Amino acid sequence: MRWAGWGDPAKSRELPDQVLKLLHDLLGVRPPPAPAATLESVELPPIALPEPLLRALAGVVGEEHVLTSRADRVLHTRGKSTPDLLRMRAGDGSDAPDAVVLPGSHEEVAALLRLCTTERIAVVPFGGGTSVVGGLQASRAGFAGVIALDLGRLDRLRSVDTESMVAEFEPGVRAPDAERLLAAHGLTLGHVPQSFEYATLGGFAAARSSGQASAGYGRFDDMVVGLTVATPSGDLELGRAPKSAAGPDLRQLLLGSEGVFGVITSLRLRVRRAPAERLYERWRFASFAEGSAALRAIAQEGPLPVVLRLSDENETMVGLAKPESIEPGGEAGCLAIVGYEGWPATGRDVADGWAGAVEAGRGIPLPARREAVARVLARMGGEPVGEVPGEEWERGRFSAPYLRDALLAAGATVETLETAGFWADLPRLYDAVRLALLGELGSSLVMCHISHVYETGASLYFTVVTAQDDDPVAQWERAKAAVSAAIVEAGGTITHHHGVGRDHRDAYAAEIGPVGVAILEAVKSRLDPAGILNPGVLIPWTG
Ligand SMILES: Cc1cc2nc3c(=O)[nH]c(=O)nc-3n(C[C@H](O)[C@H](O)[C@H](O)COP(=O)(O)OP(=O)(O)OC[C@H]3O[C@@H](n4cnc5c(N)ncnc54)[C@H](O)[C@@H]3O)c2cc1C
Repeated sequence: MRWAGWGDPAKSRELPDQVLKLLHDLLGVRPPPAPAATLESVELPPIALPEPLLRALAGVVGEEHVLTSRADRVLHTRGKSTPDLLRMRAGDGSDAPDAVVLPGSHEEVAALLRLCTTERIAVVPFGGGTSVVGGLQASRAGFAGVIALDLGRLDRLRSVDTESMVAEFEPGVRAPDAERLLAAHGLTLGHVPQSFEYATLGGFAAARSSGQASAGYGRFDDMVVGLTVATPSGDLELGRAPKSAAGPDLRQLLLGSEGVFGVITSLRLRVRRAPAERLYERWRFASFAEGSAALRAIAQEGPLPVVLRLSDENETMVGLAKPESIEPGGEAGCLAIVGYEGWPATGRDVADGWAGAVEAGRGIPLPARREAVARVLARMGGEPVGEVPGEEWERGRFSAPYLRDALLAAGATVETLETAGFWADLPRLYDAVRLALLGELGSSLVMCHISHVYETGASLYFTVVTAQDDDPVAQWERAKAAVSAAIVEAGGTITHHHGVGRDHRDAYAAEIGPVGVAILEAVKSRLDPAGILNPGVLIPWTG
């Protein structure tokens, strides 16, 4: 992972001259005045943890698992939002942890939490480090120091129960490894966020992630049937059955808790049979309103495809619906991506009205599902514009974050944000976000797509591109404040899948109200009385 950018350096990209010229002509983008910092020039705070405390940490996990090198500290500084990257590019490593500590078992995590409580050391649980909401940035005030608790050594698939279709994983398993491990059993999770290459299962649960195939596989929190959590006050073992009426579901309290209540050390996840076939296609609609109505019809009438996203006019024009390129594609209207994963129909399935397929756990065969979805899309004004070759979709779906690095280097700020609302409120929410961004940033390109659909509503995912001013971090923070206020005002949720972190903390408090905040504070004070876990994230509780 690049320390001031995204992903594998070998996949980094350059912007074509034509695009650079367009950015300059349309948005006034100019190269930044100073070159980006080098790893050696990043300014890090001195290590605050005294030697005896570092030795005590090593006493729990072994000396080789307490890392204090410049590279290790920098790689565990903040997450991967655009302001995070801009700060690193400017050489600002002020939020670096004092040490990176890698536990090898649940017991070691529990022992570390006890030690850190006694010694008042702040602990930032660290999965893939892909948070885009400030979820990895701890407050130092009042602590002897800060450690990043890197869960990378907890990377095993513990068991697979093909009868219940449940797999147990450790939290540090990265998404591609989870898929590889499950593929050996003919299974899949089907969780494919854009951060897939680096993010971990523990991080997905802690931040309630949602992947690009959520229409078919559900959100990550839908997949979690059980959790083991180490807290400073003891262990939690949650989830004895798929559903239960035994009081409030405490799994839900831990999902989305972003490491402030405890550290997830094991997850039991619902798995599905790996599909035999995948197919992605594009549909065109005359307008975003027409396309939205079609997506609503599919979400409410079913059956759902696995992937269902609709770009607005701007995103379609720029070509982000075909995300491997941002060259203007001259596409008119609004493009939707509709994806299917499943099995071909057998003669027996057809003869018994799909009962055989459903019984075999294969669901409605792909062709039948495709036909049913196409009927609804066509009725709602959609026009099929052809299949997307599988390879193109696979390549394109992960390429946008690499493009962000190239845009930042060229002097453009590009950032994404997301919200969700009920269908009836969606047009107002869409307008409110656009107006807030354009009002604050002036000349800029604001694009949107519907990224996840439900019977009752959908998520809106925005991408904004603007020219960096002299202080691009402050420039974005002003825009973000304006847009967060607009989302709260328009009745949307402050986040559909990125989580709260530090960036959405105030808007989240406004969303759940003072009694909601008091509930979270009460849980926090009981589970983590010294307030060592992720201080400053999710709730403003200081211990
Ligand atoms: C380029 C890019 C694209 C993205 N696309 C998507 C997307 O499509 N969908 C989506 O949902 N998100 C997306 N994200 C956001 C991010 O990937 C998700 O929030 C993801 O869930 C974070 O996983 P992680 O392993 O990187 O967690 P981290 O970033 O390491 O941690 C996230 C939060 O969870 C806490 N945490 C991590 N592990 C644990 C644990 N085991 N126990 C307790 N707390 C823990 C951390 O302290 C932090 O507060 C994207 C981010 C980037 C940079």
